[in-house]
Amino acid sequence: MKSVSSKVSTCLTRRRFLRDTTLLAVAAAVRAHAAQELAQPLVQTVLGTIPASKLGVTLPHEHVMCDFIGAEHTDRHRWEVATVVKRMLPFLAQLKERGVTGFIDCTPAFIGRDPRVLKRLAQETGLHIVTNTGYYGGANDKFVPRHAYDETADQVADHWVREWENGIEDTGVKPGFIKIGIDEIENDFPRLSPIDEKIVRASARASKRTGLAVTCHTGGGLAGLAAAKVFIGEKADPSRFVVAHSDGHGLPVNQTVAELGAWVSFDAISRKPLELHLRLVRAMAERHANSLLLSHDNGWYEVGQENGGPVRDFNYISDVFLPAFRKVGASEATIRKLTVENPAKAFAIRPTSALLRDRWVQPIQQLQQIVPTPRSQPERF
Ligand SMILES: [Zn+2]
Repeated sequence: MKSVSSKVSTCLTRRRFLRDTTLLAVAAAVRAHAAQELAQPLVQTVLGTIPASKLGVTLPHEHVMCDFIGAEHTDRHRWEVATVVKRMLPFLAQLKERGVTGFIDCTPAFIGRDPRVLKRLAQETGLHIVTNTGYYGGANDKFVPRHAYDETADQVADHWVREWENGIEDTGVKPGFIKIGIDEIENDFPRLSPIDEKIVRASARASKRTGLAVTCHTGGGLAGLAAAKVFIGEKADPSRFVVAHSDGHGLPVNQTVAELGAWVSFDAISRKPLELHLRLVRAMAERHANSLLLSHDNGWYEVGQENGGPVRDFNYISDVFLPAFRKVGASEATIRKLTVENPAKAFAIRPTSALLRDRWVQPIQQLQQIVPTPRSQPERF
């Protein structure tokens, strides 16, 4: 028969055991939760990171402002932050009224990117606004800073990674993606210009180092595919690459881009006839709804013009396109995918996994068939 003291001691031991295991269980749960938190994809907005799931209905390709004077002359002294904010605020507020909560600003450095303006607009409206790093090689390279010509692709990527690590200029605002641009290329020699190819290569390397997505302005479908080829050739994750202005590229190119695992961005909605976009979006959504992004490429407070000149609003998709899309039979699930789920996936920060290695082979082979490899040239970058 056990003594009273031994009973008490057994009881205490059991209680301690229970307490300790409970503590262990709680600790394990906390750790699991923390791991989950870490695994939860994030989007970098101008006000900080948010879970990608909180981005909501999003326009993935718009512009608050632009300065077209060129890389050598653009500078902050050319505009007043308060004036731009005052002019653009009503347009962004109208978006909020329509239930749009995410706004990806695609104006790159040297064309009027100003995180101070975007930050103020985000604070005033509550919109999740995302800005970018990168260089724009479209428009015959008018907006490419001189130093990029003398540097290697890695050195160019270093500038962008530094902005990702330290913030843009003195603002502390971090870029949420990489925005680049390329010019159109000729059919008989389908190769990007050396500077454009260097910019795409740098974007792939910066994307691998940061986990940021890349939106690539394209002069045409051939250039878009050539850029994808360079990007994938760098063993970057195809799902980190958004082919902008795809609504001018034709369905076969769009389908190929989707099959490669990259994003097809129809971002001229409101700037072409409604019927054209309805046809394009329906055709793509049939088999490639998971790869499609929709936006206007609107806005454009233009520096140097009286009060920014004529600004194009961001309401057409909400007011005209989606109601028409519903009328021709689009389901709410498809609309949610195109307006909420896809932008969140495209712009979530995601490190390139080594597991993707197997995925590179097929896209590259596929691309070899579509874009003929031009006369062999020495690797210059
Ligand atoms: Zn644009």
